[in-house]
Amino acid sequence: MSGSIDNKHALNYNVLMKMSTRKLILILAAATVICLAVYFAYVLLAPKGATAVIYIDGEEYKRIDLSTAGKPYEITIETEFGSNTVLVEPGAISVSSADCPDKICVHQGRLTHAGVPIICMPHRIVIQIEGDKVDAWS
Ligand SMILES: [Zn+2]
Repeated sequence: MSGSIDNKHALNYNVLMKMSTRKLILILAAATVICLAVYFAYVLLAPKGATAVIYIDGEEYKRIDLSTAGKPYEITIETEFGSNTVLVEPGAISVSSADCPDKICVHQGRLTHAGVPIICMPHRIVIQIEGDKVDAWS
């Protein structure tokens, strides 16, 4: 019994086997090194000069230089919409607690890079990290 499905699999397998195991290991090793390099560049370099900006109802409320943040500390933002506790850590910012109904801002976790901001829709709070990453993407 020689089904066409089995033949297709056999073909892929043969293509893979044409590469020597040594070559495969080299490719995998190179891929791992590149992944690690990108990861470390992302983690180590990005917080340098990173500035978190907190907006309330579209207005800039506070700018925090995360690169100079020493020990983690918390800021409580009280507005007419509600209360959010923002945790500032070196190179990271997060909402540690909030009294909004959805808690999406809390669940978004730590923000360490420019990109997707933390948004608390019910409290009209947006927390963003400014950085050169955004410029590189645009
Ligand atoms: Zn929220």
